[in-house]
Amino acid sequence: MKRASTISRRKFLGGAAALGAWGLAGCAGISTGGSGAGRLPERGEFVIRNAYVMTMERAVGDLPNADVHVRNGQIVGVGASLAAPGAQMLDGRGMIVLPGLVETHWHMWNTLLRSMAGDRKEHGYFPTARTLGEAYTPDDNYQGTRLSAAEAINSGITTVHDWSHNIRSPEYAEADLRALRESGIRARFSYGAAQGQSTEAPINTSDIERLQRNWKTYSNEGLLTLGLAWRGVSTSATGAISGAVWRKDLDAARTMGIPVSVHAANARARAGTIEVFAKEKVLGKDLQVIHAIWVTPAEIRALAESGTAVSLSPYTELRIGFGLPKTGEFLAAGVPVGLSVDTTTLSGNADMFAIMKAIQNVENVRHEDEFRLPARRVLELGTLEGARSMGLAAQVGSLRAGKRADLIMVNTRDVNLGVFSDPSHMLVEAAQPANVDTVVVDGRILKRGGRLTAIDVGQVVNEASAALTALRKRANWW
Ligand SMILES: [Zn+2]
Repeated sequence: MKRASTISRRKFLGGAAALGAWGLAGCAGISTGGSGAGRLPERGEFVIRNAYVMTMERAVGDLPNADVHVRNGQIVGVGASLAAPGAQMLDGRGMIVLPGLVETHWHMWNTLLRSMAGDRKEHGYFPTARTLGEAYTPDDNYQGTRLSAAEAINSGITTVHDWSHNIRSPEYAEADLRALRESGIRARFSYGAAQGQSTEAPINTSDIERLQRNWKTYSNEGLLTLGLAWRGVSTSATGAISGAVWRKDLDAARTMGIPVSVHAANARARAGTIEVFAKEKVLGKDLQVIHAIWVTPAEIRALAESGTAVSLSPYTELRIGFGLPKTGEFLAAGVPVGLSVDTTTLSGNADMFAIMKAIQNVENVRHEDEFRLPARRVLELGTLEGARSMGLAAQVGSLRAGKRADLIMVNTRDVNLGVFSDPSHMLVEAAQPANVDTVVVDGRILKRGGRLTAIDVGQVVNEASAALTALRKRANWW
């Protein structure tokens, strides 16, 4: 089965190359059947000419009139007047070219429940995600993740961390992975428990081991990696996890050598969790802690000393009332920091420009200081530092020869971006997903001229809408 689909994909790509079809512009809907990634554009060779290039490499900085040359998924040159004979030319005039935005924690399955956290307690985020999550089919997982991936690419996000915490059977994991694979996005897929799963029931580690054994068939040529979405020692939805269970889940991931991610100290009631992690030897370079809002200086030091990364999602933290992210304290201590969407059930959308703006504004108001968190530093969190926090900085997060080609072009001629002033301030304060003209992931052009090239947005939205209607009927949730 898998072998056959690989061959047919090669044939397809060969056919596309013969036609010289750059990205099959806007016509190829992602199929919902079969094993998947048959319709991604070929990688090819192109050069972006005469753009304002923000390399996000501190030693290089910005190149105001430069080119970026990409071949077979890799950046092969960044600089002025590059020789690139035979390469397709993309006009970079009026464009800022920068690394693709890196997202670090997102429950992609529940974009099917976009903006559904209501105004009454029984319709809050946690009961909504749990009740509807328990009624999900594998296809609902597929629909939610596919809609998320489409939105990510449209918004200039080239890497996501798919925190999949509603895996009710292996089919749910398969459906989620298929959506990622078909979209062409770069992702860590973190395998989690199901919504409503007993705190006495360990995660399905044998299924994670099965995926790891066969990862070559899932990884989409290295674009996807595997991790554990760990429940930790307690969760907001279910309370304490028994010691034997959390340890079993964690030990399984560490034996497999896959990275671990966990929500912790998000609410006042869960303060002290990082101290417990430190005591129990949970912290480490393979761990990402999400939110970590209710932390002491000693706990921040423990995170820094152990090399533990944090992921901050200002819009959900604000919207649900968790508290204000401690961005500056983490950065001052040397903790790797990434930014995240978390869930569009609460945040509404996946606008990383807005997320950067929120993280800057919250930090400045906490210190009553206009200059506390500079725009350039925030942009690093959304690109290279976010990649570093995910262990991906050697591959992506900045523009230099040798790295994988994940980049975006932002049109500064749009009405909300003219005039050209300070580019990092423009991106953090003024830019929106609508300004993202072009998105490249691993050398594939997935958005061009403001349109997705490999995803039929109408089809994706129609199918997701039908899935939500059926889901609400099954769950009797209105
Ligand atoms: Zn989360």
